[in-house]
Amino acid sequence: MRFDLITIFPEFFDGPLDHGIVRRAREAKIAEIRVQDLREFTKDRHRTVDDRPFGGGEGMVLKPEPLFEAVESLLGHGVGDAEKRVPPEAGTAVVLMSAAGRLFTQETARRYAKQERLIVICGRYEGVDERVAEFLANEEISVGDYVLSGGELPAAIVVDAVTRLLPGALGNEASTENESFSCLEDSSDQKAVLASETRHSPLATRHLLLDFPHYTRPAEYRGWKVPDVLIGGNHAEVAKWRRQQAAEKTRRNRPDLYEASQPPQ
Ligand code: SAH
Repeated sequence: MRFDLITIFPEFFDGPLDHGIVRRAREAKIAEIRVQDLREFTKDRHRTVDDRPFGGGEGMVLKPEPLFEAVESLLGHGVGDAEKRVPPEAGTAVVLMSAAGRLFTQETARRYAKQERLIVICGRYEGVDERVAEFLANEEISVGDYVLSGGELPAAIVVDAVTRLLPGALGNEASTENESFSCLEDSSDQKAVLASETRHSPLATRHLLLDFPHYTRPAEYRGWKVPDVLIGGNHAEVAKWRRQQAAEKTRRNRPDLYEASQPPQ
């Protein structure tokens, strides 16, 4: 899968995407990550990417022209204009990072992992000219309910979450199946759950639990013991305990997810 990250700070990505699973996926050519300097797509001497907001107010806004031209150069064709728009191509998603976007979730990551290409636009300053959200990007995505200074960290989050879902990215293919936000109850049912998610049905989050607690050696540390059941060697008991613990942890830390995981009344 190919990722193109459009930013005014290309050096930002020297590092965050060069470790662990993402690094290995890049080396194995499972993920190809390219960083595009937005200023390359400016035409003036000062390489201007921002301007003052119409209507007044604080701060600067990223101008539309360099962003449209950057995306069009990556796509290899124009996206049209107000008279005639060129529809987005299958297999490619253009995503704008925005605190005002739809929330990025594991479901979003799974959907992106099925694409061939993701073009990610990183905002800065007060944000991005709204025509980019409306007519250039296919989606406006937020990584959480807080405001960051730029779209680069969010972009790295999206690339990481999507890359680890690509076939072959994890050594052990099964390892994404039992993670937080995946279907812990019955992995074989996962396809059905995914199908219901993409339809945005109210059952979308059923069975979605957080991860169960993990322990490793030593079996006793400062007097704190690893639960007996994990040491006992009874696989069925271990599986049952893990399910219970995952449910309990979800109830405690994410009551919203827990409620949604309960069968409808
Ligand atoms: N004025 C905007 C915040 C701009 S922050 C507002 O109030 O919503 C500058 C840039 O950082 C944004 O354009 C966006 O690309 C990025 N950004 C900030 N918070 C983000 C978040 N939670 N998720 C994704 N991108 C975010």
